[in-house]
Amino acid sequence: LEPAAAQDKRIAIEARGIVKQFGEGPSALRALDNVSVAIRENEFFTLLGPSGCGKTTLLRMIAGFEYPTEGAILLHGEDIAGLPPFKRPINTVFQSYALFPHLSVWENVAFGLQMLGRPSAQIGPRVAEMLRLVHMEDLAQRRTDQISGGQAQRVALARALAPAPKVLLLDEPLSALDYKLRKEMQIELKRMQSETGITFVFVTHDQEEALTMSDRIAVMSKGKVLQIGSPWDIYDKPAERFVADFIGETNFLTAAMVGIEGGMARVRLRSGIEIPATIAEGYTPGAQATIVVRPEHARAVKTGGQLAGKVENVVYFGTDTHIYIVLDEGGPFMVRQQNSRSQSCGFEVGDRVGIDIAADAAQVLRD
Ligand code: ATP
Repeated sequence: LEPAAAQDKRIAIEARGIVKQFGEGPSALRALDNVSVAIRENEFFTLLGPSGCGKTTLLRMIAGFEYPTEGAILLHGEDIAGLPPFKRPINTVFQSYALFPHLSVWENVAFGLQMLGRPSAQIGPRVAEMLRLVHMEDLAQRRTDQISGGQAQRVALARALAPAPKVLLLDEPLSALDYKLRKEMQIELKRMQSETGITFVFVTHDQEEALTMSDRIAVMSKGKVLQIGSPWDIYDKPAERFVADFIGETNFLTAAMVGIEGGMARVRLRSGIEIPATIAEGYTPGAQATIVVRPEHARAVKTGGQLAGKVENVVYFGTDTHIYIVLDEGGPFMVRQQNSRSQSCGFEVGDRVGIDIAADAAQVLRD
């Protein structure tokens, strides 16, 4: 395997062929199964996947709290197996924040710098700078058991950023916050990342959070990385059913493969109508294909369209309406339409409906 860091100098952290097995014999569990990711410098990189897929295990391995059964973790191309956690230029923000409740905000942020033996003349200005960054300078003297969840989150961040780590690991740091504060902190975190230029490796099971914050996302399932790409890639060009299903809402169709030309496929829907489709990387040509179409890339029409069916449900969401359809060929299809102020979507439960798929909307999956 060619080291990715040798090809691209801007790789900060690389996990190469990581296997992590917990336990022995028949009860052994493969928490990570040949995982490889290369995280670039200054990148906001997210590990996204459902509970138990191995995100935290991978993060703990980068931090040095866990050792791989096979494979290596490299920092700027160097294997860091021999470096204990405290010697790695990597810091972690835990879900629980782990602040010292009896210390002030200021003391919490200073603590790590004191532990590292930084000269006290440097510590004061650095703490002040960090508290400004997270907008907590006014509460510097407050004990951390007397601040809100969102404020505690900021202090935990300031503390982790203070020693200027090369890489900051964040394990679901926003999950304890309510919806509105979480949305605010998502924007704040993104701002801090771009202001400091530190590589962020962020763990979440929340697909919306991953899409709004990340430069790139690795989608994980059952100990494997299924796809790595920009939010746009992951949402618009999912490679596998799991990725398409886990991120946003989507429609799956079974189609016959007619042919591939110039990197585009032509597929025949069960209605007999042929449409063009982009092809997921790694697709192995066969007679059948699974197609995905995002709900906002199709329209419900009174006449025409490439598919037909019956309206099963109409749900109003303020900005848009979801029209749930049962296809004549069998199976569900959901269309999401923007609402206009002057008229309803024009369909009611029980109506016959056509589905018009946008020209560039269909994608053939790998599996
Ligand atoms: P969550 O979002 O729930 O934290 P996760 O994706 O972070 O999940 P991990 O915590 O990495 O998942 O766990 C991956 C798998 O490894 C799980 O099945 C978990 O039970 C198992 N596991 C994790 N740590 C250990 C351990 N120390 N000993 C045994 N099994 C473990």
